[in-house]
Amino acid sequence: MNSSLYIHIPFCKKLCGYCDFFKSVSLTHKDEVLRRMAEEMAERAPLLEGTTLKTIYFGGGTPTVCTPEEIGALLSAAARLFDCSEVTEVTVEANPDDLTEEYLRELRRVGVNRLSIGIQSLRDVDLEFMNRRHSSAQAVEAIRCARRAGFDNISIDLIYGLPTATLEEWREVVEGAAALGVDHISAYHLTIEERTPFGKKGVCTTPEELSDKEYEVLCEVLRKAGYEHYEISNFSLPGRRSQHNSAYWRGTPYLGLGPGAHSFDGRRTRSWNIPSIKSYFEGVAPECETLSATERYEEVVMVSLRTAEGVDLSLLEEEFGPRCRAQFEVTASPFLEQKILLRKDDRIFFAEEHWLVSDSVIAEFF
Ligand code: SF4
Repeated sequence: MNSSLYIHIPFCKKLCGYCDFFKSVSLTHKDEVLRRMAEEMAERAPLLEGTTLKTIYFGGGTPTVCTPEEIGALLSAAARLFDCSEVTEVTVEANPDDLTEEYLRELRRVGVNRLSIGIQSLRDVDLEFMNRRHSSAQAVEAIRCARRAGFDNISIDLIYGLPTATLEEWREVVEGAAALGVDHISAYHLTIEERTPFGKKGVCTTPEELSDKEYEVLCEVLRKAGYEHYEISNFSLPGRRSQHNSAYWRGTPYLGLGPGAHSFDGRRTRSWNIPSIKSYFEGVAPECETLSATERYEEVVMVSLRTAEGVDLSLLEEEFGPRCRAQFEVTASPFLEQKILLRKDDRIFFAEEHWLVSDSVIAEFF
């Protein structure tokens, strides 16, 4: 069985207005946290015993607050503990203004082969609104730098539903992103969580009708530019899907290191570190839960229906039994008639234009 390693770097230099991830703007304890991560990796390596490690992902926070040597040291620790000979994808999430050609060359030298750059928009007015630290010019330059440094697998993130952009301005952002020739684009709708700076200020997203149109524009522009829409929020050039995220969606085991990071044993047990830097470097044990068959079934259905492959009925039957499969097919039936869901052999999946209403349809399966 394949597996993945996730390393959460919980530090940022500045807080973005919408961000609900666990992070700290104080880098005071960075060394202790990185040291503890190497220890945690060794302590929890048994979770991946008997699996083949395929992907490693540095997320955050902002992993590019670390030097290439610090990232390299964690990769060396992984190579001592796991058989990394079949690791095909090592991703680092990056902030555009951290990226110089020299930094990127060093990242490649220590074993990183994929970047996920938090571009978010190509309009300065949007970036300032979100309190991002980079400008659109820096975003474009970061991608050029990455190419010059030899990265041939680059993903970028975009955000839509911003009250600062009209539909036409959003179209220009998506066209601009496609013109950059990046290998992969993830696009997420702005969400406002209460505890974020946006939540506290009472910021609103665009009206639903407009963001629906923005999603349509996103799909249309990227399809024309040759991207495959392989998950509700993810688009890739052929052969450039995120292997790490695809492994999550298939339910393979992963070990998550760092404050707030989650792990999964590939069966029913999830564990997570408390989102606290102090608790983390003091070695507080992770919490854990075992999902019931129903909870796991719901999770599999929800995650699978968000992918282009959809639900594989044979796998559903294998894991949850013939009654579950039959029940799923009964629930899917009216949506298949309306062509909201489509069927090919043993797979049931959303028609692309109906992904937007997927939440309400998915709820019918629970
Ligand atoms: S969006 Fe990324 S860079 Fe911004 S505060 Fe959140 S984790 Fe940090």
